[in-house]
Amino acid sequence: MWHYEPPLDDMRFIIEEVLDAPGSWSQCPDFSEVDAATAREVLEQAGRFAAQVLAPTNASGDLHGCRLENGEVRTPPGYREAYRVFVEGGWPALACDADDGGQGLPKLLDAALYEMLLSANHAWSMYPGLLHGAYRTLKGHAAPELRERYLPRIVNGEWLAAMALTEPQAGSDLGLVRTSAHPQDDGTLRVHGTKIFISGGDHDLTENLVHLVLCRLPDAPAGTRGLSLALVPKHLPDGTRNAMRCEGLERKMGIHGSATCVMHYDGATGWLIGEPNRGLAAMFLMMNAARLHVGLQGLGHAEMASQNAARYARERLQMRAARRPDGMPPAPADPIAWHPAMRRTLLGLTALSQGLRIIAYWCAMQLDEADHHQDQARREQAARFAALLTPVVKAFLTHHGFHGASAALQVWGGYGYVHEYGIEQCVRDARIAMIYEGTNEIQAIDLVMRKTIGDGGAGLNELLDALARDIGPCATDPDLSLHATAFERHCDAARNTIVKLMGSPNDDPEWPLRVADDFLMGIGYTLLAWAWARLALAARNSHGAASARRLESARFGAEWLLPDGERFWQRAANRDARLPAAPD
Ligand SMILES: Cc1cc2nc3c(=O)[nH]c(=O)nc-3n(C[C@H](O)[C@H](O)[C@H](O)COP(=O)(O)OP(=O)(O)OC[C@H]3O[C@@H](n4cnc5c(N)ncnc54)[C@H](O)[C@@H]3O)c2cc1C
Repeated sequence: MWHYEPPLDDMRFIIEEVLDAPGSWSQCPDFSEVDAATAREVLEQAGRFAAQVLAPTNASGDLHGCRLENGEVRTPPGYREAYRVFVEGGWPALACDADDGGQGLPKLLDAALYEMLLSANHAWSMYPGLLHGAYRTLKGHAAPELRERYLPRIVNGEWLAAMALTEPQAGSDLGLVRTSAHPQDDGTLRVHGTKIFISGGDHDLTENLVHLVLCRLPDAPAGTRGLSLALVPKHLPDGTRNAMRCEGLERKMGIHGSATCVMHYDGATGWLIGEPNRGLAAMFLMMNAARLHVGLQGLGHAEMASQNAARYARERLQMRAARRPDGMPPAPADPIAWHPAMRRTLLGLTALSQGLRIIAYWCAMQLDEADHHQDQARREQAARFAALLTPVVKAFLTHHGFHGASAALQVWGGYGYVHEYGIEQCVRDARIAMIYEGTNEIQAIDLVMRKTIGDGGAGLNELLDALARDIGPCATDPDLSLHATAFERHCDAARNTIVKLMGSPNDDPEWPLRVADDFLMGIGYTLLAWAWARLALAARNSHGAASARRLESARFGAEWLLPDGERFWQRAANRDARLPAAPD
């Protein structure tokens, strides 16, 4: 049956041995009290909550979904109780600063926490998922009295937050947002407009919630340069209900337990966050935090699909295997896990989960070092790396979350297509992550246009240099040299494509946009090549059966999965492949 077993050993190995996070924390004065033992304790407790409290609400949440009753949103059975346990455990405050009542722990541990929550129940995890981004946005941009009123209650999870950007005519193009905000004599704003697709726009997990609403002040310039950000709470400070309501819930393919709301603001009272017309800049912190969070959804699904498929394949007996493990007596039928086709799928899922986890955690470590490292040059470099990694983590991990889940479904055969086995829900839930929080196509455009062509490729080349240095020892170790070769192939392809992108001919300005998706996927595979090399290096330096399995997994990834990445580079580098006009 569908079941979640937190992969604590793998997580610990990656945090301690592969990425040496404790070494990084020792360079960050704010984390002077955090060490490997703290991390283990956090992982164990988080794993217990995810597996024992949250996972049991996953299938029933999918079945019951959310309901709109007399204008109020009701979450599925068990969601409120799970949230109460989450708050009592102090989990909302994990990575918030101690000055604000948080635990001041690294974002890396918050990422590990969310990987587990998202594996256990993606839909539920959407509610607290925006908490950290909202915290950072308010802390960075809100006026002192707003910070005082809202931050402590967001930090302790008493109130939750929603991000209200999308409107019917304004999806990827937020420059088309029309929601208006009119300044009042008392310093407040009156907000009018309709937002759609707002996750957790209303719910019954907390009494109050705070919307961060993208809107336009009177006479604002058109486009994104005229966007402002308003804080609009469900209940006003005097306890009265604000003039905002959920007008409907979307019926959707997956994440049924997450309330996707049509929100109407009918002269709702709000307060400006940050400068007028600088709303996107203020929102930036929230959106970046949310993008890492969405990438973790991809990882959570890949892990869940992987471990459940492996369990099923060990139990399901069909046909005799061409080669049986030594010493096994003949049997009429063998576990499907012994058949090479299924073995490839299972090994691929395991290797992917490991590789994606290394990439996501490393990105979280860059965010930690960008904020907390004692050396300013490292802080600045970590910020540059995090900016480059964010769109890749969002798009590449969610791509593999969905496609990995779909590949896993095949392991169940016909049962996979049937609701009660769980993988069908996993595939449905995983699909949205490729769409929201900036579609994967928009992430690719951000990576190519702004973050690669925008700085002449300097940042990406710097990142590739750092990755190459990092796995340098693979080249001189005969057992690991295949990793060095595989990484080099991807790295050379990346550098050549960057050069070509920079020389993009003026007569074909569409070219970088045409190949942006391939470029992002190619960079993702380059990161995977690095991640498996890193995994192999760490496994080589430790002992035991688990290390042997990790070495084998890294090798499988390099030999069997990295060739998939090469087709992306072939397309990305082919300037002559034109796209015909869209069909009439
Ligand atoms: C379940 C769910 C939850 C959501 N939660 C929230 C939320 O909490 N808050 C919020 O504000 N929004 C939320 N959204 C909205 C989500 O972020 C948008 O759906 C998304 O940004 C895409 O906008 P759109 O749907 O209007 O698609 P469009 O922008 O119309 O795009 C349609 C297609 O065209 C592509 N496209 C568009 N422009 C380009 C381009 N220039 N180049 C290449 N391709 C392009 C897109 O990638 C996409 O594939 C949610 C949506 C869903 C379904």
